[in-house]
Amino acid sequence: MNTPQVDVALVQQVLSNMPDPETGRGMLKQNQLRDIRVEGSTVHLTVALTTHSAILWEDVCREVRERILAGIPTIEEVVIERVVHPRPAPRLGQIGLTAKSVIAVGSGKGGVGKSTIAACLAYALARAGSRVGLLDADVYGPSIPQLTGTAETKGVATDGNKIVPVIKDGIPIMSIGYLIPPDQAVIWRGPMLHGAVMQFLRDTQWGELDYLIVDMPPGTGDVAITLSQALPLTGAVVVCTPQQLALLDAVKAVAMFRKVNIPVLGMVENMSGFLCPECGKQYDIFGKGGARAKAEELDVPFLGEVPIVPALRERGDAGTTAENLSDPLLGPYLTRVAWQLVKHLAERAARQPITPQLPVLG
Ligand code: ADP
Repeated sequence: MNTPQVDVALVQQVLSNMPDPETGRGMLKQNQLRDIRVEGSTVHLTVALTTHSAILWEDVCREVRERILAGIPTIEEVVIERVVHPRPAPRLGQIGLTAKSVIAVGSGKGGVGKSTIAACLAYALARAGSRVGLLDADVYGPSIPQLTGTAETKGVATDGNKIVPVIKDGIPIMSIGYLIPPDQAVIWRGPMLHGAVMQFLRDTQWGELDYLIVDMPPGTGDVAITLSQALPLTGAVVVCTPQQLALLDAVKAVAMFRKVNIPVLGMVENMSGFLCPECGKQYDIFGKGGARAKAEELDVPFLGEVPIVPALRERGDAGTTAENLSDPLLGPYLTRVAWQLVKHLAERAARQPITPQLPVLG
């Protein structure tokens, strides 16, 4: 029996309302589903995604395939060619940072693994193929230099009136820690703090970014206010540990971000159970699941959990935090947090499509 020839128009029809994860607008209309050919019971097509959506490649291809197979019963196979879809990043606010998403990583208090999660988020997104920058705005206790193995950097180079960031593992990094000795206590007055963060945002040669991950100081709202005034922040991720006491601080952090109109994109439960490297068994030292329940209560997405793993601390001390992503035990937990975050951004964009930016004149 001959299979009836399927029309390209029919394939286009079943894909017509497939949203682009970055903008929420139709992929077909934006020429991101193209070169559609039908050969017997096989559909060939090119799928184009921006590097901003890189961590969602598998999800998008699966959905394209499922839409075609479910919508056209005579099609048995879908062959996809993946290409990168170029879409320039906008210049944000008046400061001229060229980035698609700026994500603040905060916590209610110190020591919960906020900086570690911020760095791992940056690494996970970069590994997937996104262009990522990491700004250490934790001016009271900058630990990104230590975690990323760049603590030896003393001072920063400049190019004209621009600061040249430190590049490590393919990620541009900027931290106040490069400018002050690690054992020196710095007392920041409000305007100075504001000035330093603004300078790092505005005057660093970040290049064109999909994501700027900002490691925030714990607890206080000063830097959050500066950020929210400087640019349209995509939102904040709140890191917490599962015990009740820590969760109370996390609730305050969520309230603080909301107060300065920074949307909370999700909560991460760090140190969620101890994963024994010997036997693989999990021991719930601080409890487990508290952040998930709290996130639900606060109507905030839960982005996932990261267990206590001694290697994570060892790599932090050794400056090899990037290696966590290839750790067979830890890597999947960390990648999942980044994936959930981008998935939530995509869902948000689908609900409220991002309109194309008009070029800024002058
Ligand atoms: P914060 O930024 O909240 O102050 P850090 O990211 O600096 O916290 O982490 C504090 C310490 O805890 C570091 O030594 C870090 O290596 C360690 N740490 C963070 N998360 C974990 C984890 N899931 N398992 C083991 N050690 C961790």
